[in-house]
Amino acid sequence: EAEQANRSKSQFLANVSHELRTPMNAVIGMTDLALEEEISPTVREYLQTARDSAGVLMALLDEILDLSRLESGRFELETVSFDPRSVVEQTVRALAIRAHQKGLELACDVTADLPARVMGDPLRLRQILTNLISNAVKFTEIGEVVVEVTCERGVGDTVILTCAVRDTGIGISRADQKRVFAPFTQAASSTTRLYGGSGLGLAIASNLVAMMGGHIDVESELGKGSSFQFTIQLPIAAPPLPVSRSLDGR
Ligand code: ADP
Repeated sequence: EAEQANRSKSQFLANVSHELRTPMNAVIGMTDLALEEEISPTVREYLQTARDSAGVLMALLDEILDLSRLESGRFELETVSFDPRSVVEQTVRALAIRAHQKGLELACDVTADLPARVMGDPLRLRQILTNLISNAVKFTEIGEVVVEVTCERGVGDTVILTCAVRDTGIGISRADQKRVFAPFTQAASSTTRLYGGSGLGLAIASNLVAMMGGHIDVESELGKGSSFQFTIQLPIAAPPLPVSRSLDGR
């Protein structure tokens, strides 16, 4: 009964957040159009604030929708062939601007023996990495964020990828390390409230990692920094064949 109740809750959340997205799209679209008009600086400022808030709300709705789908078992991963190196590098590149704005170094070190193609869900891998890297940037004021990807051979024709995101930020206390993967949970310190956020990102990331047959962990020391690390196991895919004429001449 408890499990059924929990599924109903997730189902309800999934439906509600889906229904909320439609009018939100209209709010965002119309605000964008209004911002293109000739308007006074004051009205522009009002509209820009509304637009920013709508964006934050939309991102939150997306997270609630993802989490409720994951929890109600209605979430499906894609299985396509992709290049894991370029997923990692593109993700890091997209977040480099924010890191540099804060004066942080964002480094990326991907092992040379990564397979050229694997089978899996590149968008969701990107989502996990984005969450960990943007947290690292968010909670670090001085120093660096390092993304490291290594791999080893898994069973059969699979590869086990290990991705680690290390920062020199505020760190997480031992007690909080146990809690941060739960939904709507943030580390207790008042500093965290200062940074905003929903507390959903790591819950989504750990669900996604579990769906990919892996696990996620954190090591951290308050005031020194944190290291989030996850492993996932993916089938190795054949590299794409070069386009060429058939050999037997037909
Ligand atoms: P959000 O970042 O939106 O609050 P998350 O689920 O991504 O939600 O993270 C939950 C909490 O874990 C954060 O609020 C923060 O307290 C803590 N946390 C996550 N990543 C880090 C990090 N790299 N350094 C310090 N604290 C972190």
